[in-house]
Order: sequence, then C-alpha cells, then structure tokens
Amino acid sequence: MAAYMHTVEEALAAVLARIRPLGAERIPLTAAGGRLLAADLVAPFDNPPHDNSSMDGFAVRFTDVAGATPAAPVTLQVIEDIPAGKVPQQALRAGQASRIMTGALLPDGADTVIRSEDTQDHGDQVDILEPEEAVGENVRYRGEDMKAGAALMAAGTVLGAGEIGVLAAVQRAYVVVGRRPTVAILASGDELVEIGDLRGPGQIVNSNSPALGAITRACGADPVLLPTAADDETAIRASIEAAMGCDFIVSSGGVSVGNYDYVKKVLTDLGAEEVLWKVAMKPGKPLYFCLLQGTPYFGLPGNPVSSLVSFLQFVRPAIRKASGYPEATWALPQSTARIEHDLVNEDDRRNYLRARLRLNSEGCLTASTRHSAQGSHMMTSMLGANGFVVLEPERAVAAGDLVAVQIFDDVC
Ligand code: AMP
Ligand code: MG
Repeated sequence: MAAYMHTVEEALAAVLARIRPLGAERIPLTAAGGRLLAADLVAPFDNPPHDNSSMDGFAVRFTDVAGATPAAPVTLQVIEDIPAGKVPQQALRAGQASRIMTGALLPDGADTVIRSEDTQDHGDQVDILEPEEAVGENVRYRGEDMKAGAALMAAGTVLGAGEIGVLAAVQRAYVVVGRRPTVAILASGDELVEIGDLRGPGQIVNSNSPALGAITRACGADPVLLPTAADDETAIRASIEAAMGCDFIVSSGGVSVGNYDYVKKVLTDLGAEEVLWKVAMKPGKPLYFCLLQGTPYFGLPGNPVSSLVSFLQFVRPAIRKASGYPEATWALPQSTARIEHDLVNEDDRRNYLRARLRLNSEGCLTASTRHSAQGSHMMTSMLGANGFVVLEPERAVAAGDLVAVQIFDDVC
C-alpha cells in the first residue's frame, strides 16, 4: 500500500503548530525598513504639536477680512514676520496681520490664514483681496494628525517609508522589531557542483541553494548557504550539524525514495522528531518536516521547481509566523482568475502550475500556464511567473473558467 500523503492543509497546520515566534530586538530606526513592529505604537504626544499654517500668507482674524473683495480689499497692519521654526512674539489685535510661512506657529489672536496669492503685500501693510470661505481655513490644528494616546500602529505592521516617518515624528530613534530568522540552506547530491566549478559528465550546478537563498531573503529572513554535501551519510550528517544554531534548516534533495536518499535516515539517527513526509501536491510530493533538537527542519524535494513551490507553501508561512506577521498573511495571497486556455489535472494530487497572472483591460485577473512546460525539473517555468494556478485532482477547466490562484509577485 502506498504511504499516506498528507493534504496540503494538514501538512501546513502540522508545520505551523510547531513554529514559535522568535521574539524581538531593539534596532536603530534607520535600519528598520522592511522589519516588523513588535509592539503596538501609541502616540506619545499631539502632532502637529501646535496649531500652524498650511500656506505661505497672512495670519488674520477672520471677522476682520470676511467682507473683502478685489474691488474693496481690507487693509491690515503687518506686525510681524513668522518663518517656520520661529515662535510668534506678538498676539494679533483687530485690524492686524502677521506674515506667516508654511509650518510656522499660528500667533495668538489669529484664527485663519489668507494665502499670499489672495493678498497685495505692501510691507507694513497688506491688502486682503479675498477672504477665505470659513474661519480656520489654512490652519493645521494641534493633534489633527496624531492625538496623544491614539493607537497608531499594531504589532506586526511592516515598516515602510510612511511608518518610519511616523516613528521618527514621535521621537523613536530606536524601535523594537521582530527578530529576523536565520535559515540554513543545505544541498545534497553527488551530481552537484557549485557555480564556477568544473562540471564533469553527469554533473549539474547546485542551483537550488542560490534560488532558496533569494526566496529566503524575499521572505525577510537571512539565508546561510552551506557547502553541498555528497550523497553519503557522513557528509550529510556533517552538513546538518553545521546548520545547527540557525532558526530554520532547509535542505533540498535526498528525501525521496531513491537508493541514495539518506537525509531522512541521518535525521532519524540524530534523534529528529518526524512530523510528516509526503504531501498530496504536484510538484512537491516528497516534502519531509521534522524538529531537530527543537529546530524546524524542512527537507524539500531536489527538483528545482518542487523546492521553490514547497518553500512558498510551507517554509514561507513558517518564517512569517516566527517573524511575527499577522496570521492572515502567512500563506500566499489567494484569488480567482479567468484561465486563458483549457487545463486538466489527471493526477490524484493537487497541482500548483506556474502561471503568469495579469490584469486585462477590464481590470479582470487572467491566468496562463502556457509560457512553459510544467515539469518539476523545468526551471524556466518559473521565469516571468507571478503566481500558481491551483487545480484540484481530476479537475478539468475550459478557457474562460474561473480558477483558484495564488499570487507571489506583482500583477500588472
Ligand atoms: P532528489 O530529490 O535528490 O532525488 O533530486 C531530484 C532531482 O533534483 C534530481 O534530478 C537532482 O539532480 C535535482 N537536484 C537535487 N538537488 C539539486 C540542487 N541543489 N540543484 C539543482 N538540482 C538539484
Ligand atoms: Mg539526490
């Protein structure tokens, strides 16, 4: 009888149940781009901290200028210049104005700012040609952007440019963020040589490690690439031992049912607690997952496409959980798309077909898998692919049907 294959959902749940958040670290704000905020952020003070002008112009009392027209302007006495960064020295009385710049503090007594364009500046005096529509126009009020005590960001927020700006505005020179996981990346196979090495007969380049390193980095984790191990127990054991100390270990190859697939055996000898082997998906069936002295270990299949597909389905969610991302974002974003051609899955496993997704001229998401053949050794099927069409076993769809898709890159 064939060994039991876990469904993708079972396997993912079993993996995630064994992943713990890695905790937090305090880093300079200047290095925090792309990191995840570890604790909720509350505004410590009002921002803007004072009422100020949103225009270059004249601070006035609205009642003084309400009736002004270009034909019958209102003339006010200019009592002060207030550039940004200067504290006003004089309060406005009836009939007075202060020349004010964008961002400068509003003087006491003023309630409105008239744009320079609506005035005629005579130095000591100013003619107001147009009143503003209402009192308070062109004034940015204290606390309008952030009120002291207001919730600004939740733990798990990714720090982009806008978030960094807000953190700077509230004086956070340092910020507590989720720790970045380290991911050891191993490869095993007698046929493998490293890039730049002489490639003899029967040999291929270890392309999985650089690809897995890149995808690890794209997930916000730090890859640690280890040398390729030969297909023998001693070499594989040494490689796995060198990987200990990382937060995750990801290997490719050697977990299938071939005569030289020693990875599982070595892990068992090292006392690993096996969680699962084999998932009902194509590509990616021989996925192996265990805990090695508490460290999550993913034995990905060796075929280049299989290893990337498995990584996106299982390793990426684990990295995101450990890093502190909100649960709804652990798995790849899903949607539906109109398939551009007929497609059939004659297998007993769910298919993950590399697809090119795009928004058509009506803004509708479409999918095509015809840019390449779909074998798990066809690395070129990943070129230009920005998603997967997910097709259940024994399912056929016709051009124009809606299909389930996962998105892993921009759709344009
Ligand atoms: P395995 O899972 O070890 O049986 O390998 C399955 C297929 O993937 C074989 O054709 C291997 O040559 C290939 N393969 C395994 N590891 C790598 C790697 N690191 N880079 C590229 N191809 C690999
Ligand atoms: Mg192999």
